[in-house]
Amino acid sequence: MLLVHRAPVVLPISAPPISDGAVVTEGGAIVEVGSYAQLRGRGLVKDHEGAILLPALINCHAHLELSHLAVLGQRQPREGGMTGWIGELLAARQNSADDVATAARIALDVLHEQGVARVADIGNLPESAKIGEGHPVQVHFYLEMLGFAQQSAANALARMQESQGECTSHAPYSNHASLLVAAKQRANSRKQIFSIHVAESRAEIDFLLDGSGPLRSFIEERGFWDGSFVPPGCGAVTYLDRLRIVDDKTLCVHCVHVPDDEIALLAARGAKVCLCPGSNRYLGVGTAPVEKMVRAGLMPGLGTDSMASNPQFSIWEEMRLLREDHPQLAPATVLTMATRGGAQCLAVHDSGQLAPAMRADIIAVEAQGVTAGNADDFLTSAGKTLRVRWVEEAR
Ligand SMILES: [Zn+2]
Repeated sequence: MLLVHRAPVVLPISAPPISDGAVVTEGGAIVEVGSYAQLRGRGLVKDHEGAILLPALINCHAHLELSHLAVLGQRQPREGGMTGWIGELLAARQNSADDVATAARIALDVLHEQGVARVADIGNLPESAKIGEGHPVQVHFYLEMLGFAQQSAANALARMQESQGECTSHAPYSNHASLLVAAKQRANSRKQIFSIHVAESRAEIDFLLDGSGPLRSFIEERGFWDGSFVPPGCGAVTYLDRLRIVDDKTLCVHCVHVPDDEIALLAARGAKVCLCPGSNRYLGVGTAPVEKMVRAGLMPGLGTDSMASNPQFSIWEEMRLLREDHPQLAPATVLTMATRGGAQCLAVHDSGQLAPAMRADIIAVEAQGVTAGNADDFLTSAGKTLRVRWVEEAR
């Protein structure tokens, strides 16, 4: 049966906003999008008075298995910046007897309530692959490899060989070069997205430039410094590119400390970028050069990162913070990042926009008095205060 969802404002994302618009769906797919006047006779009309209709959101980066550590994200910024936070996180994970899986499922419920249809989830525990089983949010799970020293890289390689699912690398400073290359090659052979934290903090860049800084001490303290690391003497994107890791299936998460030539390199390689402004602000690592990325032709996706480094855990908040950090960004661009940009980052071709043949993952946001002209501004500046409900969900 055809359904005609009518609302005062419809935002297709891939086309201009529509006043008194309609979305026609059938069997979980979108058939047509246009003005209500055009589409009124096409099926059973469902009126969404006072609402904006738009595609469900996409969260390109989370760590659901850290959700039980949400309490860490409530703390004030700590000594030692990001490196200090990693130390606290590792300690908390060791001592935690919490039910990791239960908290992760609740986090997934939270995302669903906010209108998120998909999430790229990074985990270190193989059992985390099951977090999304049977859940309405589609979880793209990647088992994350850590292994800086030669021996730990060899152990990670063995784990990767045993694993049936998709694997990925944590970061250039936590993976031996041989592990980075092997993980990327494995990802390519499976035609999967290779998600990696890139240029998140200044400490990462200092470490790659000459092997110095807080990350050096951090690695030494934990006994992982075996002398095999040769600092590449360049930025994170350049380093990964030398290892042939940057291509159109590589999702570079954070990209806070990327100079102009590395932005150009990301664009030239067709690489994908995921921004996490909430986590970046919480950890005090700086803000990504987003305007330059957009000018270079990149359309990033947005990610919440984990509850342990982001007390808000909401893509609506990510949009609000991004606009706060970058007032020059057009609201329409920010909304595109949270939808279509996210779909591109995850190489998903049937989500992120309201258009024929797309999945009918449609949400409605309460918005009395908002017009087609200011709907994107309204949605990207209100954060968590928005009232969101699902109109349809393709299963
Ligand atoms: Zn992360």
